[in-house]
Parts: sequence; C-alpha cells; structure tokens
Amino acid sequence: MTKSSPLSSPRRRAGRRALAVVSVIGAIAAAIVVFAPATTPAEAVFAGSNGKTGCSAVNMGHTKFPKFVYSDLTSRVEAHADYARSNVVDQTHISTGDDTSLDANTNVVIYDSAYASVCGYDWYNEVDGGTLALTMCDTVYSSGDCRQHSIRISTTYFSGATTAQGRGLLCHELGHAFGLMHASSSGTCMKYGVTNPAQDWDSTEKAQINANY
Ligand SMILES: [Zn+2]
Repeated sequence: MTKSSPLSSPRRRAGRRALAVVSVIGAIAAAIVVFAPATTPAEAVFAGSNGKTGCSAVNMGHTKFPKFVYSDLTSRVEAHADYARSNVVDQTHISTGDDTSLDANTNVVIYDSAYASVCGYDWYNEVDGGTLALTMCDTVYSSGDCRQHSIRISTTYFSGATTAQGRGLLCHELGHAFGLMHASSSGTCMKYGVTNPAQDWDSTEKAQINANY
C-alpha cells in the first residue's frame, strides 16, 4: 500500500500513542498490530512465495508472463499503468500482457475509485492524506505464490497528482504485485510517503525480481 503526507497529523500521532499503550498491555498486541509493511526491515526487499493473501499481504506473482485486466479505469490511471508496465516491469525478466477477460486466470486486476474505506484503511482526502492505493493478493496457488493480485488506486488522490506522482504510484503498487516490499531508500518507487517519488525500482530490487521470475 501507499500512504501520503501529512504523516504527522494530530490524528496519526494519537493513533501511534494508542498503539503504544496497547503494546504495553500484553500478549494480544502482536495480533492487533497489522501494519506489517511499515515495520519491514530495509534489507527485506522481496517477499518471495509465501502463501499470503489479504489486505496487508505481499506475495510474489505466479508467472513471468502476467496477464492484466484494467477494470474500467480513468484514462490517467490507465496511461500511468501502461507507463509503469513498459518502463519498469517489462524492463526485467517479466513480460506483461493483456487478458481478454477477467477470470480466475487473470494475474493482475487494476481498479480505481474514490475509495473511502477498503480493508479498514483510512483512504486519501485532501485534509489529512491517507491511503493512496492498495495491492492485495486475492488467491494463491498451492505452491504459495499469488494467482491473482488486485490493485486499487484512489481517484481522489490521482485526479490531483502530478505525472511523476502517478507514475511513481503505479510503479510502487506493481512492485507489490510482483513481491517487492517497502524500501527505506529514496532511489526507488518502493519508498512510500514521499512527495516526489522515484519512478523505477532500484538495481537491488530488479535483481531480486530477475532472480525469482
Ligand atoms: Zn506500499
């Protein structure tokens, strides 16, 4: 997922304080803290094939020839998705294509909408930021890799985003769809919460992708 600034709004600080209190209380804290991507160590750049599905899961895709479906996208989201596929994903061992219809064999589905809440996340609004986009693994193969990913892009954010921000956002979410985790380096689009994101994966991430597809 991707979140936007302002990262230190009063509401978010209050949320962190509340979380800290919960963690002091005891053993149930581990089950409550679901913000796994934010605490991932920087060196963990690739999720691998791990069988994970759901709202905060990052799991690598099944094939180096993934078939995409765009679900009635706005023209800007579609254009930036095309850009990120051609200029980022297809520059690795992965070669993307288009599916003729959305079915169980579709590998990546991209949706966009003015989301208010998906997976319980606080989605973007102009006052206090929020979640810009979310990539989920919806179904897995028995081997553990992801059969179908869904990517959701906030049109509320996207309509006011620059071209660079839009390209960076699609680069980021597609990274998750192929197994990349969040990064601490600003040299990759996999870092989140930045105003002017990079628009490409870095060499370490590309090496991980190429080693796994
Ligand atoms: Zn993310």
